Amino acid sequence: MKRIGVLTSGGDSPGMNAAVRAVVRKAIYHNIEVYGVYGGYAGLISGNIKKLELGSVGDIIHRGGTALYSARCEEFKTKEGQQKGIEQLKKLSIDGLVVIGGDGSYRGAKALTEQGFPCVGVPGTIDNDIPGTEYTIGFDTALNTIIDAIDKIRDTASSHERTFVIEVMGRNAGDLALWSGLAGGAETILIPEEDYDISEIASRLKKGQERGKKHSIIVVAEGVMSGEEFGRQIKEAIDFDTRVTVLGHVQRGGSPTAFDRVLASRLGARAVELLIDGKGGRAVGIENNRLVDYDLIEALAKEHTLDLDLYKLSKELSI
Ligand code: ADP
Repeated sequence: MKRIGVLTSGGDSPGMNAAVRAVVRKAIYHNIEVYGVYGGYAGLISGNIKKLELGSVGDIIHRGGTALYSARCEEFKTKEGQQKGIEQLKKLSIDGLVVIGGDGSYRGAKALTEQGFPCVGVPGTIDNDIPGTEYTIGFDTALNTIIDAIDKIRDTASSHERTFVIEVMGRNAGDLALWSGLAGGAETILIPEEDYDISEIASRLKKGQERGKKHSIIVVAEGVMSGEEFGRQIKEAIDFDTRVTVLGHVQRGGSPTAFDRVLASRLGARAVELLIDGKGGRAVGIENNRLVDYDLIEALAKEHTLDLDLYKLSKELSI
């Protein structure tokens, strides 16, 4: 392996820059040239590819977003699009590619690998929804952004004695809602992995009010329903007015936490090691604080699992 490429794809997440930096520096450390593909798979198809040097990734470790830009690209889902991408890489004699992104981006990496071009996937998404890793790059930062918001909402909620519904991201995974709800002391957490019972939630809200509770915080994962919709369900059930906050894209931004920077550095460097060892078609992850790698193709067939013990605990602590 003499030359590798790196790209970021799909939804951006804080810490992607730290991962790109690790890929570039680790490769150069091993005398491998690195090319940055700008704008995800769209940039790959159009050949927006530039050589990166040590200095190209200076001063980005602390920045959110991705300096390589990201994009969604329908054309890359087709064989023709993928072939165009491979041609662009071959033109520059690039022999392997690190793809930093979510599960959609992994599918692209899998397609390239199946067509003979070795790729390694690095899990970058705030949603924490990639199988084979306990944490994805950006999850911890997004979580802390949510906690910050919940703490602020709690201040105003207790001053006005109100019930707040906070809608958080996560796509079909409940991790952001569960972890932020537990860390933020939410009374109720709605996640896609578990059913909820509106009458049980309503009676808990009522009981809380009767025992003099000043406010309630309810965290709803976007994969369950919108915060507005759940506010309406509470109103219908017990005629409580709620205030709904949709945190939206603030969750995707911000300077990555130390945890995400270290995770990104470790995973990015490991991806380069795998390519050096000729192990394409792998994805890297972390389990019990150890780096792991697994077959990209098999991993995509698995489902991400959420820590249901945490969910049980959150219920026990919010009686
Ligand atoms: P994420 O990587 O964050 O999950 P997306 O699901 O939007 O984001 O995927 C990012 C990009 O990956 C898509 O725009 C597309 O270019 C590529 N991609 C997604 N699914 C496939 C697929 N089945 N085959 C090839 N490429 C894909």
